[in-house]
Amino acid sequence: MSKDYIIEQLKKQIENFEAVATTEKVGTVVEVGDGVAKISGLSDAMASEMLEFPGGVYGVALNLEEGAVGAMILGKYEGIKEGDSVKSTGRILSVPVGDMMIGRVVNPLGEAIDGKGEITSDTYYPVEKVAPGVITRKSVSVPVQTGIKAIDAVIPVGRGQRELIIGDRQTGKTAVAIDAIINQKGEDLICVYVAIGQKESKVSRIVAELEKHGAMEHTIVVVAGASDPAALSFIAPYAGTAMAEYFMSKGKDVLIIHDDLSKHAWAYRQISLILRRPPGREAYPGDIFYLHSRLLERSARLNDDFGGGSITALPIIETQAGDVSAYIPTNVISITDGQIYLETDLFYKGIRPALNVGLSVSRVGSAAQTKAMKKVAGKLRLDLAQFRELEAFAQFGSDLDENTRRQIERGRRTVEILKQDQYEPMPMAQQVAVLYALTNGFIDDIDVEKVKAWENDFQKYMKSGGKAVLELIAEKKELSEEVVTVLEKAIKEFKEVYQNGK
Ligand code: ATP
Ligand code: MG
Repeated sequence: MSKDYIIEQLKKQIENFEAVATTEKVGTVVEVGDGVAKISGLSDAMASEMLEFPGGVYGVALNLEEGAVGAMILGKYEGIKEGDSVKSTGRILSVPVGDMMIGRVVNPLGEAIDGKGEITSDTYYPVEKVAPGVITRKSVSVPVQTGIKAIDAVIPVGRGQRELIIGDRQTGKTAVAIDAIINQKGEDLICVYVAIGQKESKVSRIVAELEKHGAMEHTIVVVAGASDPAALSFIAPYAGTAMAEYFMSKGKDVLIIHDDLSKHAWAYRQISLILRRPPGREAYPGDIFYLHSRLLERSARLNDDFGGGSITALPIIETQAGDVSAYIPTNVISITDGQIYLETDLFYKGIRPALNVGLSVSRVGSAAQTKAMKKVAGKLRLDLAQFRELEAFAQFGSDLDENTRRQIERGRRTVEILKQDQYEPMPMAQQVAVLYALTNGFIDDIDVEKVKAWENDFQKYMKSGGKAVLELIAEKKELSEEVVTVLEKAIKEFKEVYQNGK
């Protein structure tokens, strides 16, 4: 190779040289503690932008101040110290979404924590998103069958609705939600269970129950444990909603449980106080209402032009000593379309689910009830309301007129029938059958103490001898003359066999 040739080549290269400059925005940690870092030099950071700390730990920009950015750290923050450099990524915090998430247990970043291998996805959804506008929505008209008689009959939930489950600790709040998930086995609802700030042992027990009942096949579990940083608890419900939104955008129906939003509010309060945001009532920051309203507004039912998918939300709130007028409970009550109110007193009286029928409401759900259920539920509600009014008199016993006495007896049997064991959700047709028998006086002659046993035998009978009747109810979904005739015949047949046999 001649010298000239080399020079020639070099000249060419120099002519064609193009400088490609890449800028990387790097800041410096100036203060760090309790899972929150203050970073200088990132003046262009966006709100909710992901920031990369040394060691592959991510954070999210929350406070954009003059001269510094306040960020929460999503992960192990013990290794991060002052002077560390932080890269801004230009990406808003997002999580992997898709069908492969179903059946998995993940953290709020969408990383697997069930030991079943890494999850890879080419689709990411932002954790924060503006809720669907009013034009894109459709009113509630399809039920979510929870399989719990007291709920499906008295305070029904419709697809796209937000129904709050509220009650003191240990009143069966989680049980209601888990039964609703189990009842979706073999149906078309996909479930997302978001565990926020719960003990890891409790969550693993829940996952084991879901697995045992074959419910993980249609469920995603998102876990921010009690020992994880508060930042993870804070983003968990938004991450779960992003995963649900993927299915909604595909025209599918999703049920999401936030267990529970009290702990979510605590996590947010903790982060806000460390970031030195001004505390307001109960030391929560001023935007605590917006925290939950922007989350729950994303649960909606889209109209057919937008695919017709839906997200139904069952947020859970824990109250202290039944106080529903505390700050967070009142906020969330005002955001949701009704509440399932569970009471400690009822729970210990053995009325489980411990539903207070008087204080529970579903503002839109009855529009979604099947005709058959609506018919029996109307009578049921009336029976219950009359019973509550008369119950106080019942203690005076003797001098009640015949009519009053009959109403009280009916009420007692109604309360018995609405009791239901955990992990035993019941299909709509079976619910209608037993509630029909109840509201039409077929159980009035059974002793109150024996009503539960009677129901068990009745359901067994309906599942075998009365199978055709159940199938007819499930198919017609209304109590037409035809259905009523065969149903009454089945009930009478059962009563004959039962009463003669015992
Ligand atoms: P926490 O406040 O601790 O989250 P919780 O309100 O979510 O409690 P659960 O954990 O669902 O309550 O239930 C409390 C206990 O009551 C559990 O041991 C559960 O098995 C039992 N339980 C719940 N529902 C029923 C039911 N319908 N029948 C019988 N036992 C039930
Ligand atoms: Mg619970």
